[in-house]
Amino acid sequence: MHKNRVNILGTEFDNYTEKQFHKYLSDDMDGRSNRFIVTPNPEIVLSARENQEFSSIINSADYVIPDGIGIIKGAKTLGTPMHERITGFDTLMFLIKAANRKQLKVYLLGAKPEVIEASAKRIERDFPEIDLVGYHDGYFKNDQEIVDDIVAKKPNIVLVALGSPKQEFFIDKYRYQNDAIWIGVGGSFDVFSGTKKRAPKIFQKLSLEWLYRLLKEPTRFGRMLAIPKYMRLVKAEKKNSEK
Ligand code: UDP
Repeated sequence: MHKNRVNILGTEFDNYTEKQFHKYLSDDMDGRSNRFIVTPNPEIVLSARENQEFSSIINSADYVIPDGIGIIKGAKTLGTPMHERITGFDTLMFLIKAANRKQLKVYLLGAKPEVIEASAKRIERDFPEIDLVGYHDGYFKNDQEIVDDIVAKKPNIVLVALGSPKQEFFIDKYRYQNDAIWIGVGGSFDVFSGTKKRAPKIFQKLSLEWLYRLLKEPTRFGRMLAIPKYMRLVKAEKKNSEK
């Protein structure tokens, strides 16, 4: 693993095609390996740059996957192009479909109570072969109670939606108490449950999902300023490396 890592402002991405990545995950599920998947976007790359502990946690994960066109553009600008963007949401859907096919145990953690309830219902309805062993919203006070529940139920896959960096810190701290595929899925349950809509196909095709999210939730504007800042830093990095 990690033969072809591409470094973008300190975050080391795996350069896989989505097909390769899915094959690795499928083997991991079959072998019941303990794995940690992180799907950084430009905002996370910047926050890792300012938080050494977060950066080490990301770089020690088993899979660091380029979520967002900004990462692909950054890699190209730096002269180390990557195969393709692989979104956190698509990875979540792949894991859920595979869990359904393989009849695996799944645990959902995070998001608001009504969102996680609706996500659990959708799993029961649309993916009936999944053994949904437990779920809990993301507004708990006591980590240990949650971890004890996960350990008792032995899920093969733990989907964690606490937002970044909280979800990555949580997974890094507890993953070895239960061998599973652990992934931080950010706001994906909001979409999976139907509470929020994913951008229409045309926005996805044009890599304008960020614009759709901005139109829907203008309060995200502050967070989106991360993207131009990120591109400026990538260009500065490129210039520096040419000196
Ligand atoms: N969240 C949570 N517990 C917290 C903070 C956030 O469960 O203490 C959830 C929140 O409800 C949302 C997700 O984490 O479902 C984060 O969503 P956001 O859109 O910020 O994530 P992104 O995909 O942008 O990383």
